[in-house]
Amino acid sequence: MSDSTEDRVAVTVLGAGCAALSLAARAAEFDSHDFTIIDPETHKAGDHIWGFWAMPWLGEASAIARKKWFKWRIISPDRMVERTSENHPYLALNRHDWLGKCRKKAVAAGVRFLREVASSGTAQILDSRPPPMPRGVMLQHFSGYEITTDDDAFDSDTAILMDFRCDQSRGIHFIYCLPFTARSALIESTLFSTEVAPKSFYDMAIRRYLSGIVGVKTFHITRHEQGVIPMASLAQRDPSLTGIGANGGAIRPSSGYAFSFIQKQIDQMKTSARKHKPLWVSVPHSRFELFMDSIFLRVIRDRPALAPQIFTAMAARLTGDEFALFLSGEAGPRLWLKIVLAMPKWPFLFAVFQSDQAGKS
Ligand SMILES: Cc1cc2nc3c(=O)[nH]c(=O)nc-3n(C[C@H](O)[C@H](O)[C@H](O)COP(=O)(O)OP(=O)(O)OC[C@H]3O[C@@H](n4cnc5c(N)ncnc54)[C@H](O)[C@@H]3O)c2cc1C
Repeated sequence: MSDSTEDRVAVTVLGAGCAALSLAARAAEFDSHDFTIIDPETHKAGDHIWGFWAMPWLGEASAIARKKWFKWRIISPDRMVERTSENHPYLALNRHDWLGKCRKKAVAAGVRFLREVASSGTAQILDSRPPPMPRGVMLQHFSGYEITTDDDAFDSDTAILMDFRCDQSRGIHFIYCLPFTARSALIESTLFSTEVAPKSFYDMAIRRYLSGIVGVKTFHITRHEQGVIPMASLAQRDPSLTGIGANGGAIRPSSGYAFSFIQKQIDQMKTSARKHKPLWVSVPHSRFELFMDSIFLRVIRDRPALAPQIFTAMAARLTGDEFALFLSGEAGPRLWLKIVLAMPKWPFLFAVFQSDQAGKS
């Protein structure tokens, strides 16, 4: 039986993005906690796509996804790896669709939405405002368009997760292409580097890709999206508050993926919720995963030219479902062994040695 309002722990969440609203949508599942969202009107911000692999904890998001692909490719200048998944297709979900659904569920469950934190009556503050990004940190930065074409141009059954056949002069660079139909796609120029590029760089990369690789000369831009995601474990914005979402360590440093991990983090909050106690928030990645990610990031940062080889080798070594499980934080020891064996040995051993030296100094 749920507690009366006075018995519940009053939880205020700063921000109203993915983590805050995904949590608020599940308010009815928390018998002993009451939620207030401090909303700086994020829902009025632009739309974008969240990509993730279908996993058991993502049923609601999968149900309203815009498109799913059972086939995907990773392509380098000299190799094309195509994989098919049986159980874990890759999905694309519009941000507005997800946040709109979450907001409706939250309101129905009695969650309050305010513009500012009330001066009293809060027992716990969860902070979903983004963490600061220190200078020099590795970033995943991207800019892309949703486009339509006048003629058939895309294989709408196959998502292109990474295509490295593009200008590598500014860091690790690939094109991400989600074809919704034969005549419409999201196409993004994405870099892993420490410096964001000028707008014209991404734009030129997309235009060159479309004309040179896809064979599309004329297209119509229907939407633009861009983003900068830190590829690191960052300190949270305010150490005196409890961070959630990106500010609670949900971004997977090696991939920049966070949507799936945010939902995992909320599952953990739900499972660990106790009467009269503040909610407990944990980082949804293991220490082992974070250690391996730090080694991986060290290698690609020091030797960016290896990135196309590393990503294609990893995809080639795994089945489609294994690849999806790995990127969703579900790799067991056998899968980790396969991944380690797929990696070029010397750069990784050197990076492990360097991290060991850094730990000693
Ligand atoms: C364009 C883009 C595309 C992405 N694509 C993917 C993807 O395909 N797959 C994936 O897994 N991840 C993706 N990510 C990464 C990640 O999933 C998102 O960043 C996700 O939105 C993080 O959720 P969050 O709740 O932590 O932060 P946000 O959703 O960014 O929410 C933060 C909230 O804090 C509020 N806020 C900010 N500053 C203040 C302030 N000073 N005071 C009060 N409130 C404040 C904001 O308005 C917002 O409401 C993407 C990120 C971006 C930006």
